[in-house]
Amino acid sequence: MDPNCIFCKIVEGKIPSKKIFEDDDVLAFHDINPLAPVHFMIIPKKHIASLAEAGPEDAPVLGKILSIAGRLAREQGSPEGFRTIVNTGKIGRQDVYHLHVHIIGGPNPLPRMIAKE
Ligand code: 5GP
Ligand code: ZN
Repeated sequence: MDPNCIFCKIVEGKIPSKKIFEDDDVLAFHDINPLAPVHFMIIPKKHIASLAEAGPEDAPVLGKILSIAGRLAREQGSPEGFRTIVNTGKIGRQDVYHLHVHIIGGPNPLPRMIAKE
């Protein structure tokens, strides 16, 4: 745990969140600022700063996150697909440095993936 990390504080219950699912390894909770009708995050409970810092020892938890995404998305109201986003580092415009997989969807198709600037 990183004492200065807001997602570690969410894992520990020190900051409240709208939880969707948790087990010993992962936590899923709604994004505080949803960008679509369905927008939640799945995170490892272990503090991993970003995907750039993940190593082979993190493969099981990363696999678990992806393997539960579909079921959670369906349960949350995105039965026909969704988008997964993992913003990483400065280039990826990551804001919270605790690895998180965004699950974004809803009943209607999303905008295209990246707008050309
Ligand atoms: P990033 O830009 O790092 O990929 O995304 C960080 C996400 O975390 C943002 O979508 C933001 O709305 C969300 N977020 C930031 N602080 C909190 C919080 O305290 N609680 C919840 N539930 N989401 C948060
Ligand atoms: Zn953390």
